Amino acid sequence: MCARVGVLALQGDVREHIRALAELGCEPSEVRSAADLDEIDALVLPGGESTTMSLLLGSAGLLDPLQDRLRAGMPAFGTCAGMILLAADVADGRRDQHRLAAIDIGVRRNAFGRQVDSFETDLDVAGLDGPFHAVFIRAPIVERVGPGVEVLATVRGSDGVERPVVCRQGPVLVAAFHPELAGDVRLHRLFLAAVPLPHPAAQP
Ligand code: GLN
Repeated sequence: MCARVGVLALQGDVREHIRALAELGCEPSEVRSAADLDEIDALVLPGGESTTMSLLLGSAGLLDPLQDRLRAGMPAFGTCAGMILLAADVADGRRDQHRLAAIDIGVRRNAFGRQVDSFETDLDVAGLDGPFHAVFIRAPIVERVGPGVEVLATVRGSDGVERPVVCRQGPVLVAAFHPELAGDVRLHRLFLAAVPLPHPAAQP
């Protein structure tokens, strides 16, 4: 049995997340409105373009309801642009870009590997049983990590500095890269482990 998981479907690599969640036995739904949000227990925010998704959250009337659900403890998993949306602080964003502040990290957009827009590497992620092949595409850097945030993986940047790339705070998990593109569902599984299953008596 899987909880009711939604994927924010305003823009970005929605289909890849749907596929990964389906592989784990979920029947994920696409979230485009406040009514869709009422139907889910957990949300994945995909990679794509955080500035566009931020604008669309506003025009879809999703911003306030989503912020309310996150404040109430809804589990969320953000990858790349999704991580930017969930962060508390965003540098090099649009001035009017919304911050959902569901995880106490500060990120800088498009800052990982400035010379090469994209790169791939094998990562050790705490809690996983072997290396995870990570695909970084115009990835954000995590510049600040709050005291309540666990860092599950780091990567050494081109400047030689070791930077967090997978972080977790309670039920909120973020990755600076795209696990949905790797054909490896272990991070999705780690996320789902934080999602309480609906009580059997609540089933129709
Ligand atoms: N650079 C994008 C942004 O700021 C994120 C890139 C991605 O999701 N691949 O939203």
